[in-house]
Amino acid sequence: MADKELELYIHIPFCIRKCNYCDFLSFSCDEEGIEKYVSTLVEEIRCKARDYKDDVITSVFIGGGTPSILSDDQIERIMNVVKNNYNLSDCCEITIESNPGTLTEEKLLAYKKSGINRLSIGLQSADDDELKLLGRIHDYQTFVDNYNLARKLGFDTINVDLISAIPGGSIEKFKESLLKVVELNPEHISVYSLIIEEGTPFYINYGEGGPLEDTLISEDDDREIYHLTKTLLAEAGYNQYEISNYSKAGRKCQHNIGYWIRKNYVGFGLGASSLYDNMRYKNTSDMKEYLRIKAEDVPCGYMIRKEVENLDIKDIIGEYMYLGLRMNRGVDLKKMSEQVGQDVYNIYRTWIDKCASDGLIINKDHIICLTDKGQDLANYVMAGFV
Ligand code: SF4
Repeated sequence: MADKELELYIHIPFCIRKCNYCDFLSFSCDEEGIEKYVSTLVEEIRCKARDYKDDVITSVFIGGGTPSILSDDQIERIMNVVKNNYNLSDCCEITIESNPGTLTEEKLLAYKKSGINRLSIGLQSADDDELKLLGRIHDYQTFVDNYNLARKLGFDTINVDLISAIPGGSIEKFKESLLKVVELNPEHISVYSLIIEEGTPFYINYGEGGPLEDTLISEDDDREIYHLTKTLLAEAGYNQYEISNYSKAGRKCQHNIGYWIRKNYVGFGLGASSLYDNMRYKNTSDMKEYLRIKAEDVPCGYMIRKEVENLDIKDIIGEYMYLGLRMNRGVDLKKMSEQVGQDVYNIYRTWIDKCASDGLIINKDHIICLTDKGQDLANYVMAGFV
């Protein structure tokens, strides 16, 4: 049997403090709590390895939270258990997410030594007032110092995350942030438009009916920022390959592409999601329950598996469509029809034809992809495939 390709995701749910807009599974924790978590995580990764002994690992992504909050020793232990128990491909992409203000020379050297070959840095804005408003722990100069240190120590694949549509912001302000990042010449840039999530401090002020709702930038300006981002980054040599992601040639994030093409992935750690052979599930989001993996020595921690969903063919085809359409290369209907044993065009004929006649998608040579207008209205287009 041919080896199966698999991606690994490792979740570190800790942050120095919670940002004002954040609804991710993340929180602050003392050193003792972090160490307890890491030793449980290492155990989970180790004991689940037997299930994936025939799989080849094409990417590993240590995400959060703020993984760079961990000590160099903790990261080395996590990476050692991965390398010693899984079959990593020769060109395995290994990413760690980090936040400025938590990176040190010791940590960066430990990442390199552990085989981590891609660094993602959450800058979000190059404007210190905006960073303060977002509740970030760092200022722009701290980011620049961390970035330059990573370069000096040999990181040659760096992603920088930016947020657009920050309250009180403007097209000009965003452009300044983007140009400052371009000047540093990272290999990859991600730009996400801020969503005001319920349950966050931002929601109280900027959510529906909130006292500062009118300081949010307009939808038209948001779209203008989107188009400006595409233009400026194209001029600087970055190719857009997904709605929010841009890279220099050969530097796309393989791990994220895996999600959009529905490659199998297994998530370790609190609340981590998995997709394996068309089954989706999540680890528990309850820390007490998660820590039982180690305390009770339950083999492989299957009792922490939640929200198990066995996808049927309709779910699978729908996912292929709306995830695949996020990427500029689009979806190859012919290939997909062969994969799922059904004529996919036939299933969505009415919607595909309507979107094509409305100028939202291009349907050419069995491949459909979003137009510029379709990217503006991506949620509307995708909804037709769910
Ligand atoms: S650093 Fe990221 S994960 Fe942590 S609180 Fe801020 S936005 Fe959330």
